[in-house]
Amino acid sequence: MASSSSALLLCLLFISLATTTGHSYSSSNEAFLQCLHLHTKTSTKNLSKLLHTPNTTSYSSILLFSLVNTRFNTSSTPKPLLIFTPTHESHIQASVICSKSHGLSLRVRSGGHDYEGLSSRSQDHQPFIILDLTNVNSVTVDVDLATAWVQAGATLGDVYYQVANKSATLGFPAGVCPSVGVGGHISGGGMGTMVRKYGLAADNVLDVRLVDVHGRILDKDSMGEDLFWAIRGGGAASFGVVLSWKLRLVPVPSTVTVFTITKKAEDGAIELINKWQYIADKLPEELYIEVVIQTVANGSGGGVEALFNCLFLGKSSQLLQGQVDPENFFRNEQSIPPLLI
Ligand SMILES: Cc1cc2nc3c(=O)[nH]c(=O)nc-3n(C[C@H](O)[C@H](O)[C@H](O)COP(=O)(O)OP(=O)(O)OC[C@H]3O[C@@H](n4cnc5c(N)ncnc54)[C@H](O)[C@@H]3O)c2cc1C
Repeated sequence: MASSSSALLLCLLFISLATTTGHSYSSSNEAFLQCLHLHTKTSTKNLSKLLHTPNTTSYSSILLFSLVNTRFNTSSTPKPLLIFTPTHESHIQASVICSKSHGLSLRVRSGGHDYEGLSSRSQDHQPFIILDLTNVNSVTVDVDLATAWVQAGATLGDVYYQVANKSATLGFPAGVCPSVGVGGHISGGGMGTMVRKYGLAADNVLDVRLVDVHGRILDKDSMGEDLFWAIRGGGAASFGVVLSWKLRLVPVPSTVTVFTITKKAEDGAIELINKWQYIADKLPEELYIEVVIQTVANGSGGGVEALFNCLFLGKSSQLLQGQVDPENFFRNEQSIPPLLI
């Protein structure tokens, strides 16, 4: 008798806890929704379509949509209380104000490629929400001025595509992976195959719109030069939420040359890598050669191979006429000092 009443008590306690947890959980969501409504001109009905909770069917697919590093998709990875997918700048301002007033940590996610998963999880199990900028992704190109305004949720692929659609002789010097987001990429520097000629993506930022911790929108002039400097390489999430960047587009030839030369260790890859270190920075700035060293699957012979990935800003005939054919460089038996490392 004693044991069955204890079991009943335990069961009632469990139900009561579950109900309480469920109640407080949904009421905090409701309070957050009301706060967003108060700070935007958007109805709660429309806002609730942009809020995804573990109880909504969209939650998992949106959480995983751009989570590139699957190490951060385990049962022990902290999950957000909410994912908010704003469609307007005022929504982003409100999310900063409301997450602060509700004691929630805010994770900002543009393309989701963060190596440490910082855009999709919290540390120390702090309650948090994800501000996912996927819907804020316009790219507006001005060919005459050679500039573009790009919203933070645009990917590098979106930028390259829209620029190429408008002009065959303009480009933007940023990374190689098309699904990387401009929000995280440019604020961290952003290096790509035109870096020798035009520098980093961050070097080509002319202006920015950023929501600060108070929910205000700042631009280059109103934020001051220190903050403008910091968010172009120092990561922006420590300072606010980047809404959009104004980019300087750079001149490119309408035809460029791209090639990859693969060498295995038995083809002399180690000697070539050694030589590459001494010539790569002496080549014309229009020629970029990077080396990727990778293991080869056992099915393909195993071992290690080096990929020489190249971009030349010009036609292949110009490249050959200019005597900058990398194969020739590599074959040339010039005296090269031994590798020091
Ligand atoms: C497959 C792959 C290929 C890559 N290729 C290159 C490359 O060629 N060149 C190169 O330089 N790098 C490259 N990277 C690195 C990449 O540039 C960085 O990981 C970058 O931070 C990703 O930006 P994101 O917006 O996609 O990521 P996210 O995970 O969304 O964000 C990364 C960080 O920036 C913050 N953040 C995102 N958006 C904003 C915003 N709007 N305002 C403020 N903070 C924000 C996030 O909170 C997080 O801390 C690559 C990464 C991967 C996974």
